[in-house]
Amino acid sequence: MNFGTDINEFLKSSAKRALRGNTPKSLRKASIELNDKEVQWLCVLDLSATEDDVKNCAVAGTEIIADFTWEYGINQMFEKTQPNEKPRALKNIVYQRLERNFKERDLEEQEWISENNYCVKCKKADTGLNYPIEYEFDEKIYVDGICKLCGTSCSTEIKIETE
Ligand SMILES: [Zn+2]
Repeated sequence: MNFGTDINEFLKSSAKRALRGNTPKSLRKASIELNDKEVQWLCVLDLSATEDDVKNCAVAGTEIIADFTWEYGINQMFEKTQPNEKPRALKNIVYQRLERNFKERDLEEQEWISENNYCVKCKKADTGLNYPIEYEFDEKIYVDGICKLCGTSCSTEIKIETE
């Protein structure tokens, strides 16, 4: 099979195309490499990732391998990380969620955000969050964290206030 000049460029453009329109909000990092005749496809997601989110990553994997001839296979790896963990990556990173530094906010603001959450499992507001992580997705800002009461991942959209 002819990959053109660079197998890594081939992998990257194939994966980027496959993710387009399939990228779930909970996807933190996606990376790809070729190991002999097997494509390694690694998607690292938040704990909040739903089955549909994982399915979207698998659909992307299916689209990637469709760019290869029959003698190639694919090893799809879907991992979930804690908010405070750095997602691991293979050789070619094709997607990286834009993560912000929550700790750069004023201390008061950090406290307010981590205390004013809503937990879907507890069905309760203001349960408090552990390990808050802030990121941008689709031009919105979110803070996710782990509910202090039940350990479920909670996601809150942060509205930017204009004075
Ligand atoms: Zn909870």
